[in-house]
Amino acid sequence: MRDQKIIIAIDGFSSCGKSTVAKSLARMLGYIYIDSGAMYRAVTLHALRNNWINNGVPDREKVIAGLEDISINFKFDAKTEQNTTYLNGENVEEKIRSLEVSNNVSPISTIKEVRQAMVKFQREMGKKKGIVMDGRDIGSVVFPDAELKIFMTASPEIRAQRRYDELVVKEQKVSIEAIIKNINERDHIDQNRKESPLVKPNDAIVLDNSNHTLESQLEWAMQKVSEIIGE
Ligand code: C5P
Repeated sequence: MRDQKIIIAIDGFSSCGKSTVAKSLARMLGYIYIDSGAMYRAVTLHALRNNWINNGVPDREKVIAGLEDISINFKFDAKTEQNTTYLNGENVEEKIRSLEVSNNVSPISTIKEVRQAMVKFQREMGKKKGIVMDGRDIGSVVFPDAELKIFMTASPEIRAQRRYDELVVKEQKVSIEAIIKNINERDHIDQNRKESPLVKPNDAIVLDNSNHTLESQLEWAMQKVSEIIGE
């Protein structure tokens, strides 16, 4: 393939396998993979630890003021071949995946100033292109000029089962009902918030992966990449 590097934006609903596809695609292309949701999760963890969220309602002023004290970075772990999320130097990769963080992340993500700070950081990471980023507003807001935009979706049952399997492997005790509730609530907030709601950009290609293997999704995506950068 030619040396041209592009930006690949992958957006979609919660737990529809965006990160699995994005990670694999980045590996195949030698690109950087960035999980933008991890950044919103890290802010949420910070807010929870400081008791800035009460019954699911964040104290906006405190969260906004606290942004100054947060530094988020990603380090590539050669052992697991995964990106690991760091919050102020602490590895929080496991902690940000808890149901408690999942239950509070969407309200935090509605805060305009939080989004502005995250988007600034995300754009810096994409300056040199050669990046696959997944999230909710990557193709619509963060990189509106991304060369390839994919909008992923899958049936709610399949999404809940995937998230359940993921958490069970990590030995987190959760019920499938609690996960379905969380996914539905997050989707609702993400689609209806004022700031950068989850939308399918007009120029995004839809991938409904309910009945597709990872291999077939990657083959499909690599085909789209080849059409853009040539072979
Ligand atoms: O991708 P993930 O499910 O980990 O994202 C967690 C939450 O972070 C989403 O439900 C959404 O509220 C928020 N998010 C966002 N914009 C992004 C990525 C995630 O608002 N670009």
